[in-house]
Amino acid sequence: MSKPEIRKDYFKDDYVIIAPNRARRPLETKVAAAVLEDNKICHFCPDNFHGETITYQDNGYNNEWEIVAVINKFAALNLNNNSAYGQTEVIIETRRHGMDINDFSVEHIVRVLNAYINRYTALRSMDGIKHVVIFKNEGGKAGASIAHTHSQVYALPILPAKIENEAKAYAKYRLEHDNCPYCDIIKLEAERPRVIWQDDNVFVLSPYASDSPYGAWLMPKRHIRLISELTHSEKESFATAMRLVLGTLDKYGIAYNYFVENAVNDEDYHMHIKLAPRPNVWAGLELGTGVIINPIPPEYAARIYRDHVAIQNEPRF
Ligand SMILES: [Zn+2]
Ligand SMILES: [Zn+2]
Repeated sequence: MSKPEIRKDYFKDDYVIIAPNRARRPLETKVAAAVLEDNKICHFCPDNFHGETITYQDNGYNNEWEIVAVINKFAALNLNNNSAYGQTEVIIETRRHGMDINDFSVEHIVRVLNAYINRYTALRSMDGIKHVVIFKNEGGKAGASIAHTHSQVYALPILPAKIENEAKAYAKYRLEHDNCPYCDIIKLEAERPRVIWQDDNVFVLSPYASDSPYGAWLMPKRHIRLISELTHSEKESFATAMRLVLGTLDKYGIAYNYFVENAVNDEDYHMHIKLAPRPNVWAGLELGTGVIINPIPPEYAARIYRDHVAIQNEPRF
């Protein structure tokens, strides 16, 4: 495509403007000078780790902690504060400083997913908690403040409007089409140019109306509601997909967020991971209207991912 195009989400009433910016090479990102923090202590390194409230511990390979979840002491939410009730935790994904999640083996990413599942399940069953979100902010090469890879978990006493709106749109689609929209999207997109990667278990897609440049959805092919329902083999497929897709973003120094989306309450849903890279910063239109301009057509994004995935898959000698 060369002309801008307004696109509507598959089943939500969300619109984006896909407007390729030909003045700029699509992969050009501003890489800020890395902030040197030699004199700063990393609080996620094992040597500096004292007195934390540990909620999960994976004693990986040498009987030392390899992955831990801890309560965030400086969090906005706290179980002792009725005015801002909730809990936030940090999942430290490795004891080694300076790695990115895409540097891990498939086995290690599966362990990280197991930590997600443990914390999701434990926090979701706590009294007064209505929603648990697991996410990751990765600063890319543009100067993340903590270069020790981690994810975050927020247990909220409310159901955020964005999540509720998606759940309502899902239920409406399900009623009208007698099927799950995500199952339908996997069928609809199977032969199309927006597929990034797939195996028997997992389908990775640049969504048609992506609200993020290089945005991607990582979906299990099996219809399951919660991350805790993934089989071991499905976790391995997710881990492989994450290595490939996040490895591409890492190579180009693109910062990203991803979120694990699960069913709310007892409702039906198709769990998945939404990846939202952030090579641009939202401006007035986006903040004022919620209409987003995405300068990277999803078909182009899928091609960039596929090309890089092909390189990553080449045999090494
Ligand atoms: Zn560290
Ligand atoms: Zn489904």
